[in-house]
Parts: sequence; C-alpha cells; structure tokens
Amino acid sequence: MWGRRATCASAVLLAVGLVTAACRTPSPSPSLSPSPPAPSRAAAPPLPGFVVLSDVDDRIRTDIRYATAHNFVGRPLAGYLEPLCLLTRPAAEALRKVQDAALAEGRTLKVYDCYRPQPAVDDIVAWARQPGQEQTKGEFYPRVPKSDLFDKGYVGAPTTHSSGSTVDLTLVDVNAPSQAPYRPGQRLVPCTAPPGQRFADDSVDMGTGSDCFDPLAHTDSPRVGREARANRDLLSELMTREGFVGYDNEWWHYSYRDEPHPDTYFDAPVARSSVG
Ligand SMILES: [Zn+2]
Repeated sequence: MWGRRATCASAVLLAVGLVTAACRTPSPSPSLSPSPPAPSRAAAPPLPGFVVLSDVDDRIRTDIRYATAHNFVGRPLAGYLEPLCLLTRPAAEALRKVQDAALAEGRTLKVYDCYRPQPAVDDIVAWARQPGQEQTKGEFYPRVPKSDLFDKGYVGAPTTHSSGSTVDLTLVDVNAPSQAPYRPGQRLVPCTAPPGQRFADDSVDMGTGSDCFDPLAHTDSPRVGREARANRDLLSELMTREGFVGYDNEWWHYSYRDEPHPDTYFDAPVARSSVG
C-alpha cells in the first residue's frame, strides 16, 4: 500500500535493506520522525497526463478500499472523493497490456488503489500517531499494536502512490462470482487466515488479504501455500513483463518503472475532475 517514501506498508517491517527500487529509498531508521523529508509537490489539479483507468480499460475491476470504510483506518481517507483509479497514462496503458495477458490466463486484474493524494497519506500518518480508532485491527493488523505501526514502518510517508504510477492489485478468476459488499461492523477475521475464513474477497488466493500488516504478505514468503505461491508468481510475471517492479514486502504493490513523475507527490483529490 504504502510507503515511507518507498513503502508500501509492511515495508520496513523486516528490513530496511530489503527495500526494492519500487519503493525507492526508505529511511533506514525505524525511529519516529515527526517531520518526514518534505516532498516536492504539485499544488493543484489537474493532474498532468493522468487518466481514469476505466477510460483506458473498462475490463479491469476496481475495489478502491480507501474510498470506503473497508480499510485499516476504518473510514474513507481524505482526498478520496470518488472510488476511481487514477494513473498516469503510461502506467494505465501498460496495465491494459497486463490485462490482455491476464485474460489469456483466465484471470482479470482488480485494483485496490492507484494514485493516492498526499492529503490521504497525511491522514494515514495522523491516524497512526493517535491512540484509538482501531475498529479494523482484527482484520488488517491483528498481531501488531497500533502504536507500533509507524515506528515499525508499516505506515509512513511519502509514498510512490502519490506520483501516480503505482498500483495495489490482485487477480480474479473471470468466472468468480461478485463478492459480497463489506458491511461496517461485521465480524472481522485476520487477513492472515485461510481464504475460506478471511474476508470473502473475490480474488484468487494470494495467501493474505490486501494491506495485511504481516510477514506472510511478503511476496516471497515461504509460508504461503502452493496455490497462493503460484498466484503471486503469475501476478509478478504478468506485471514485470510490462515494465512494473514489485515490492518485496507486499505482494500487491507494483510501480511502473518508467514513471513520468518520480519524486513528485500530488495533492489533487481522487475525482474525475482532477484529470485534465
Ligand atoms: Zn501500494
């Protein structure tokens, strides 16, 4: 999901040294830094050269968790005005090619998050630093105290998502029935539980749910089952073939290698009106 300038969520959890190019350069210090390095930002819409993914490929499914209450914060994040996937055009065009290849395998892509506005990242960091508001702990970080999320690098800022060429995604069998909607207040099951027990996402078994703050979510974890291993490998193969780079600590996180706006973190909200 994430990053502290690299990350993704579980990033620093393990080891700072494992961070890949997809997540750029995280601070090697897990200590709490009240003032993360100031990113360069473009102040206002429209987002230059961005598109709505469904305008490029309407076959790709979307489940934009941060526009809903079904995420680790438990409410929609600041800046998510519409449940849309916004990306730079090169990243969206590359994802369309990935979708072509996925369909040939009987799978379709489903994106959980794409461009993430810097205000949303700030919202997450503020949430992580405040006690309480743990209504979704049982699903997303069942084994980690909320007070450790920032220090251990599960959350941080900035993130490559704010540059517009990074996606969190999974694979769905083309014949899979639609998933039941998430109901706020429903019983939560750890994201590390077996697929028949954890939240009934319609995706294939990837070994954990998305945004799962746990080592089991590390892409190369030896603890996942054979089916999950094959599914993670297929997603990796499809994405890397079209120029995306994965992230070691999150099986769902990929960045487009030739992104047009590296080191720029945009503020414009997730809304069709932000796309020029
Ligand atoms: Zn991500």
